[in-house]
Amino acid sequence: MKSEKVDVLVLGAGIVGLSNAVELQKSGRQVTVIDRYEPGLGCSYGNAGWMTPCFSMPLPQPGMFWKSIGWLLDQDSPLRIKPQPSWLLVRWMTHFLFAMNEKRMLESVKVLTDISKYSLDSYKELAAKSPKQFGFDQKGLFLVSGTKDGLNGAKIEMDLMQQQGVPGKYMSGEEIHAMEPSLKPEMLKGGVYFPAEAHAEPLLTVQALAEEFKSLGGKIQTNTEVFAFTKGQGKIETVHTTRGDFKADVVVMALGTWSKELAAQLGNRVPILGGKGYRIITPSFDVKPKHPIMIVDRKIAVTPRFDGLTSVAGTLELVDRDFDITPRRLNNIVRGTQEYMHTSAGDMEVKEIWRGLRPCTPDGVPMIGFSKKHSNLFYNCGHQMLGLQSAPGSGRLGADLILGRPTFTETKPFRPERYE
Ligand SMILES: Cc1cc2nc3c(=O)[nH]c(=O)nc-3n(C[C@H](O)[C@H](O)[C@H](O)COP(=O)(O)OP(=O)(O)OC[C@H]3O[C@@H](n4cnc5c(N)ncnc54)[C@H](O)[C@@H]3O)c2cc1C
Repeated sequence: MKSEKVDVLVLGAGIVGLSNAVELQKSGRQVTVIDRYEPGLGCSYGNAGWMTPCFSMPLPQPGMFWKSIGWLLDQDSPLRIKPQPSWLLVRWMTHFLFAMNEKRMLESVKVLTDISKYSLDSYKELAAKSPKQFGFDQKGLFLVSGTKDGLNGAKIEMDLMQQQGVPGKYMSGEEIHAMEPSLKPEMLKGGVYFPAEAHAEPLLTVQALAEEFKSLGGKIQTNTEVFAFTKGQGKIETVHTTRGDFKADVVVMALGTWSKELAAQLGNRVPILGGKGYRIITPSFDVKPKHPIMIVDRKIAVTPRFDGLTSVAGTLELVDRDFDITPRRLNNIVRGTQEYMHTSAGDMEVKEIWRGLRPCTPDGVPMIGFSKKHSNLFYNCGHQMLGLQSAPGSGRLGADLILGRPTFTETKPFRPERYE
């Protein structure tokens, strides 16, 4: 096998790996990104496309203990933990339960908002200068609900996010319906409008970033699967791939939900579970949505697409390595959408079903930082349901830490050694 020496080797050409690569390349490092497929075919392929700092909430929140027990038992709950006899799940749940306190949550919200706001500005700049359009649109986003509990939750989220400088306003059902007639008025009690949020087509966004990276002189090698490492003197000596070996001054692990297995090969703990979710692309709306909409009561994300179709995404089922499609959970997404929105009668026409595993750390904060066990290994993974909205900020933070520069946000909540 051939062996190549590179400056920085980024493992994974998802939105996070490429964002880190762009920032390092801009700063004068010579970066090679490798992926077993083409860029963006992992979890970055089919997400809802939301670039929304208003969703900077980690998964564990105070008062969730009994709810999370319910998620172990209820197969239809939009958030579900699949029971499985595994030490990983036990360890994950233990960290998850310890993270359910107000202090941890507020620390997490602060840094997640910082990286998400940085990212929104960055996507805006990319949309203005990129020759490749990726459907970027900044129309704001609605959280809507038909229940008292749902409305209370939306208001709490609005207040919390306003404290972080994310503007939002409460609106009545009638006011929302006037702006977004795709919703059924009889199902609407009210909701919150976040006017500054944006959305885009996720795969096209990755591709635009890949183009930017290449235009800066970066190299992407596709169809290249990492399968092993050779360690020596407290560092990674060689990365073994299906297309040759690599030696690198810095190895960035940005393998999303696959980071766990590869890190385990090094003897390192990366407790990431897959948060399985689905996205459906459909033409079946009688009245087309104009804005992204979160149906709070069903946890369904509806997004207008650049091609005139609509994407509907939802459910989070914590699994290990399980890509099975569960018709029952897909049907819940379709039914929940039809309940709240004007869609064609009968079955929803489906152009594409996609499922992906969100890389979920127990505390809902990504791992961004150097490994304490291998001096040239840098993690940038575990972005749960916020990977698109926070990737450029994570990439910038990653580059700042690798280059030893001052950082634009606090780094402590991201430290990998909290698990490793
Ligand atoms: C239904 C759904 C909706 C979502 N909606 C949103 C949203 O609206 N906004 C948002 O911010 N986030 C959303 N997310 C989450 C978001 O998609 C993820 O957080 C994000 O894509 C993670 O990006 P990543 O680059 O870390 O991982 P990935 O995109 O999975 O990238 C990892 C890469 O590693 C590669 N790889 C894996 N193993 C190997 C190997 N051995 N060798 C070489 N390469 C390898 C893969 O091919 C892949 O390209 C959603 C997720 C789902 C499932």
